[in-house]
Amino acid sequence: MNIYGLTLEKIENYFLTIGSKKFHAKQLFSWLYEKRIESFFEITDIKKEVIEKLDEDFSLSRLEIVSKQEDVDVCKYLFELADSSYIEAVFMRHDYGNSLCVSSQVGCNMGCKFCESGRKKKVRNLEVYEMVLQILMIEADILERISHVVVMGIGEPFDNYDNLLSFLHIINHPKGLAIGARHITVSTCGIVPKIELFSDFSLQVNLAISLHGATNKIRDKIMPINKVYPLDVLIPTLKKYTEKTKRRITFEYILLSGINDSDSDAAALSKLVKGICCYINLIPYNETNNLEFKRSNTVQIMRFYDILKKNNVNVTIRREFGRNISAACGQLRSKKEDL
Ligand code: SAH
Repeated sequence: MNIYGLTLEKIENYFLTIGSKKFHAKQLFSWLYEKRIESFFEITDIKKEVIEKLDEDFSLSRLEIVSKQEDVDVCKYLFELADSSYIEAVFMRHDYGNSLCVSSQVGCNMGCKFCESGRKKKVRNLEVYEMVLQILMIEADILERISHVVVMGIGEPFDNYDNLLSFLHIINHPKGLAIGARHITVSTCGIVPKIELFSDFSLQVNLAISLHGATNKIRDKIMPINKVYPLDVLIPTLKKYTEKTKRRITFEYILLSGINDSDSDAAALSKLVKGICCYINLIPYNETNNLEFKRSNTVQIMRFYDILKKNNVNVTIRREFGRNISAACGQLRSKKEDL
């Protein structure tokens, strides 16, 4: 079993079941995440017999970085996993810190029409350690700390819910990677029962919703999940979520030329989110060779933005990274597998 998949609580239980001390868990966490050991035998404050047992029961093995593509303030990593699956993570340098976009699954079953990851079915969920190691390996590669994490890489995090929560606990823990909950964002295409569950989650993590359409007609066309949880179910759930958690949610809205970017779409979007504590992040679409969707032109993006502003909606346009390096969700993995 890979040690990076265990929450502090699980490690505490492990030490108790082997007849050792619970407090070793915090020490071990600090060796793993503060001192970044490469072998359990580097540990100096736990008895030798216990370290030998740890070494027998757990591995510290890493993922393999198979390629890196760099552009200004961005670097995209392709990892190979032990079963020869590929996943991606994207590192971005912002004025407020370094952020990493991590993957949660190998492939994705949500089937969004514009998304490269959805073109390939889900192969499997990522294990907790495979999520944690994306951060550790990239920090080791760039020798800088990652201060912000977005779960917006390949996969639907709410389709890998239990592993997602363990991952969040590990990276948030002060003795773990100590990434503040408000610096962590989970993005979902809108799996309603999981949004409801997530409102009870103990950490104040941000929630982003991939909306991409303000009517069922449009959303049905591009996001199959809308047939299961249409807007008239999703929106009231989000209202409840914000009321209960007192947290603002983010709506992601990719602008797709001729699909969802007209003036009337902007008006419908303003109406849809009225009364919800939220802001809208407009995303210029990253075109991919395999899909026919086109990005909206800059003039239309600005018009759309202005209409939302006039309607008093909080809105931003996402800064673009890595347009030249296939940085859109799933593009690198897809290229690798199509070779
Ligand atoms: N499954 C989750 C998280 C992964 S996708 C979700 O749906 O939110 C992360 C975000 O990237 C989503 O908003 C998704 O719609 C968007 N996305 C996918 N392909 C894209 C592309 N080619 N250009 C821009 N954004 C894209």
